[in-house]
Amino acid sequence: MATLRQQALTMVQGRPRVQVTPPAPKISDFFGTNVFGISQMKQSLAPSVFKKVMEAVDKGSKIDVATAEEVASAVKTWALSKGVTHYTHWFQPLTGSTAEKHDSFFDAHAGLEKFKGSALVQQEPDASSFPNGGIRSTFEARGYTAWDPSSPIFIFDKTLCIPTIFVSYTGEALDYKTPLLKSLEAINDAAVQICQLFDRNVRKVSPSLGVEQEYFVIDKALYSARPDLVMAGRSVFGHNPARGQQLEDHYFGSIPTRVKDFMMDFEIEAHKLGIPVSTRHNEVAPGQFEVAPVFEEINKAVDHNQLLMDMMEKVAEKHGLKVLFHEKPFAGVNGSGKHNNWSLITDTGINLFQPSNSARENLQFLTFLVATVKAVYDNSDLLRASIASAGNDFRLGANEAPPAIISVFLGETLTAILDELEKNGNIKIEKGDNMYMKLGISKIPEIILDNTDRNRTSPFAFTGNKFEFRAVGSSANCAGPMATLNVIVAEALKTMAKDIEKEIESGKEKKLAIVNVLRKYIKDSKKVRFEGDGYSEEWEKEAAKRGLSNLKSTPEALDVYSKKSTKELFAKHNVMNDLEVHARHEIMLENFIKKVQIESRVMGDLALNHVIPTAILYQNKLIENANGLKGLGLDHSAAVETIKEVSKHIESLKSNVTAMTEARKQLNKEDDIVKRAKGYQTDVKEAYFEKIRYAVDKLELLVDDESWPLVKYREMLFIR
Ligand code: ADP
Ligand code: MG
Repeated sequence: MATLRQQALTMVQGRPRVQVTPPAPKISDFFGTNVFGISQMKQSLAPSVFKKVMEAVDKGSKIDVATAEEVASAVKTWALSKGVTHYTHWFQPLTGSTAEKHDSFFDAHAGLEKFKGSALVQQEPDASSFPNGGIRSTFEARGYTAWDPSSPIFIFDKTLCIPTIFVSYTGEALDYKTPLLKSLEAINDAAVQICQLFDRNVRKVSPSLGVEQEYFVIDKALYSARPDLVMAGRSVFGHNPARGQQLEDHYFGSIPTRVKDFMMDFEIEAHKLGIPVSTRHNEVAPGQFEVAPVFEEINKAVDHNQLLMDMMEKVAEKHGLKVLFHEKPFAGVNGSGKHNNWSLITDTGINLFQPSNSARENLQFLTFLVATVKAVYDNSDLLRASIASAGNDFRLGANEAPPAIISVFLGETLTAILDELEKNGNIKIEKGDNMYMKLGISKIPEIILDNTDRNRTSPFAFTGNKFEFRAVGSSANCAGPMATLNVIVAEALKTMAKDIEKEIESGKEKKLAIVNVLRKYIKDSKKVRFEGDGYSEEWEKEAAKRGLSNLKSTPEALDVYSKKSTKELFAKHNVMNDLEVHARHEIMLENFIKKVQIESRVMGDLALNHVIPTAILYQNKLIENANGLKGLGLDHSAAVETIKEVSKHIESLKSNVTAMTEARKQLNKEDDIVKRAKGYQTDVKEAYFEKIRYAVDKLELLVDDESWPLVKYREMLFIR
């Protein structure tokens, strides 16, 4: 058998189990031990200093030099007590992963460990190699990182990590975190204004996020024997195994031992880092799993998700495993997503998406619900763009993944309630009437709690007390889609507040003014609501009839970033300026092009260097065999048929790979990045990927198993 594949398979068989022992019997005994969060600060800082830090956390106020010195000193003491020698600013550049540059606490001149307040608060990493979408070439070639005190400092890999934003010297965001933090102000501002109509005590509204993270796990040796997984994160070839996911026996089945050990191990590390992971289970595809923490304040939740992914990769090493976060590592089985469970919570402790026993709160609930639906309707293209990536393109609309059409699922009960509200426009409210009763919104809670129909096919679904944005890709940084969601909902709430104000000014009673506006919004945004099967073909047709977009490829989906209205929206809410929007557009296009380019190259290399030579060797054997049969005067027609078939696929591979390479060459001359990306989509990906894969996968079935060079799907997905 081809040596690399053979070696890998042998290695898997001999893997020892890795024993996992928790540091203490109870999670509460070690939860957060590697975190320097609010409670640690409270313990180690003088009350006056602590108060200043809390003001920075709550209100975003500046931290003065003296305060920074105090915090730095306390952090250093804590870190040294834990055997930590280095520190780093930890940030999220637009590459999609996290970045760090480690510095030692040890000052050789002084002969002791030092950590200055200025080093805590700000750094200038040599950032010239991070994507900037033209920002740094336009302005200064410098960027700096600045401490985000609202996300706790932590120890990872014996290094003190300080969560930071990453901005250019002129202040433009070069990361995911900065616009997210700004979007929190936008949504807070807009949501508080609406809340005040119902409850004067509300001063702050914060989004919460709980991320269900899907991933695949395969043996590390098998991974290393697949150059496509190593280079592109997904398998570009591979015939479906005889058994895929059709038995539906993997989902919620028992977790394979090695994977379970791995899960326990990374959960321990997560708990030490204060990441509240709580759920683990198998997912639908063989080899696919999910981890979910309990929801947290959104900025912390995003950081925790990024950290969790990093950490899972490190822990997997120890177990001889490889985690795949790609959206579609294997064709023919489910892809992976990252379900973003999002809600809005007030400082008075009310979840604004929680239906309630109180009728007044239900009107507030409906107001936020309807505003969100309207926001998605008005800006579905922006939401679509926020989740666009080369990886997610393979997933959306394929095998049990939400389609590229953005729609909202509300469930039967809420649909009925909104329909009622919309229709009952002429409802007469007499003095002494209970308006809530008449509108049928006095009793939402019992019905909703009973309402168990959970539509799994919707990209954006209301699930009882939160919205779940499921179209987000498994490798994505949630900050992009979440900042977008915050901004569009902020916009809808702001417009709504104005409309309600107008109604009130025209003499309407407050409750009626709100109901009138809700009715209008319900009507206006009705087209985006869909309760049926989002995976079906009928829905594609229906959505087209309704005029909803179905933007299947990333470059197409990203066009919305060059619209004037998009730039105005982000600027209006002070989340991104024109240049930042433009830069993001470029970076996302650039990422897309690079990914497709890499895949295309890997395909070419594998086809030319691995598959074709193997097929030719096999073909020679067949020719020998046919000649032998012929010499004996026996029927050799079957052998000849196979030879012809093998030849046909080899020819097809050769010509398609050559043509694809030529197409790439032509496109690389294209200066306009939008055109280049669109070209990569149509002239490279759409024109050749399927054809090349088809020939290789056919050859996999024809060539004898012994000599096939690539680890097969059944080996990657089922061997553990
Ligand atoms: P599912 O049935 O979709 O798996 P779960 O109830 O397990 O849903 O919740 C999935 C995620 O949603 C978890 O991370 C959970 O903490 C989070 N979640 C629950 N309530 C909220 C909320 N109000 N806001 C944000 N996330 C929430
Ligand atoms: Mg879910």
